[in-house]
Amino acid sequence: MARVTLEHVTKRYEDVTAVDDMNMEIEDGEFVTFVGPSGCGKSTTMETIAGLTKPTEGQIYIGDREVTNLPPKDRGIAMVFQNIALFPHMDVYENISFGLRLRKYEKEEIDRRVEEAADIVQLEGMLNRMPDEMSGGQRQRVAIARALVREPDVFLMDEPLANLDAKLRVHMRTELQRLHRRLDTTIIYVTHDQAEAMTMSSRIAVINAGKLQQIAPPLECYNEPANLFVAGFIGSPGMNFVEATVSEEGLETENFSIEFDPSGSGLASGDTVIVGVRPEDVYLEETAGSVTHQTDPIDARTDVLEPMGDEIFVYLVTGEGGETKMDIEIEGGEATDDQLLMSVDPDTDISPDEDVRVVLDRSSIHLFDPDTDEALRHGIVEPAAADSGTAERGVGDTD
Ligand code: ADP
Repeated sequence: MARVTLEHVTKRYEDVTAVDDMNMEIEDGEFVTFVGPSGCGKSTTMETIAGLTKPTEGQIYIGDREVTNLPPKDRGIAMVFQNIALFPHMDVYENISFGLRLRKYEKEEIDRRVEEAADIVQLEGMLNRMPDEMSGGQRQRVAIARALVREPDVFLMDEPLANLDAKLRVHMRTELQRLHRRLDTTIIYVTHDQAEAMTMSSRIAVINAGKLQQIAPPLECYNEPANLFVAGFIGSPGMNFVEATVSEEGLETENFSIEFDPSGSGLASGDTVIVGVRPEDVYLEETAGSVTHQTDPIDARTDVLEPMGDEIFVYLVTGEGGETKMDIEIEGGEATDDQLLMSVDPDTDISPDEDVRVVLDRSSIHLFDPDTDEALRHGIVEPAAADSGTAERGVGDTD
């Protein structure tokens, strides 16, 4: 077990900066997932930790040891990749023990390690099987067992479930969590799948364009996204973004107003902000009884409905509708003037082209700075209510 530290790690290829001044400290025994869109630099960051790629700048430590220039075999790591490259002519035992046999471990020691690893990934009784006699999930477990027998300080896993079908992926997700609980080893995991990231990790590191955007427990990234990118990337479907101007009375968007006292918020009349609200924090007025802090009702018209079984996504048009303007560009999301996505219970009586009134949960309204993309506030409950300890949180508050 070991902590992993990245200090100013940068990796440049000719005209691409794949990793840009990455700093992070992964604690001993943590399960940290690198998540972000394809090409954002997740794998390259992982490869610098593994020693498969040398960073252009910066240092990497595993435990107290600087490993920046050490070859992979001297770093105390084991890797599991997307492509499960098992030797087809070797049985499970031979595949798992291959590395140990190569290093001339004693037969007894090899047997002990293989048995223990097979037990952990539940492959007991299958040690004599050939890879072509196994399912995709079983083969992936052989690959994990092969990494386990090395008894590494740190596991590095790069999209290990990407080639499995959807059902098996969900199953392996729970297996990996169990594995982590049992081993208590540091695991660094790469995925572009936010469901994997959200469900398994102690913390997720959200990466975009080579830069670390936020590293925090999954729910913190969901509830208190550090910036527009994290807000748009985490959560499915993504957060609604609407441009607004600050006035004495509150936030004025093209089609509706949100009462809000800007005093003490660092915002002044005339400032532009991006209002962010998740589909699950938009409610039909008549069913919003449980929401303590609501905005005034907003008139809208339902457009398309998407019944998902456990919820219905309702595309709402506010104002006159028509052209959707996008004044600002948001990576990972869209800022609109007249569209809102709402999630409602599956038994809600609702149809397309219906006039409705919706309210927003004020404790879950986020404000972002359109110039820096940084979050300004999470929750815009009135100051009086905030004093009594409700959900309003200025960014940087510790509560
Ligand atoms: P991710 O794992 O997030 O999909 P990568 O780390 O694989 O992203 O890649 C990050 C960026 O670096 C991409 O733009 C990719 O094209 C570039 N890149 C990765 N490896 C190389 C390489 N060997 N040579 C040139 N560019 C590379």
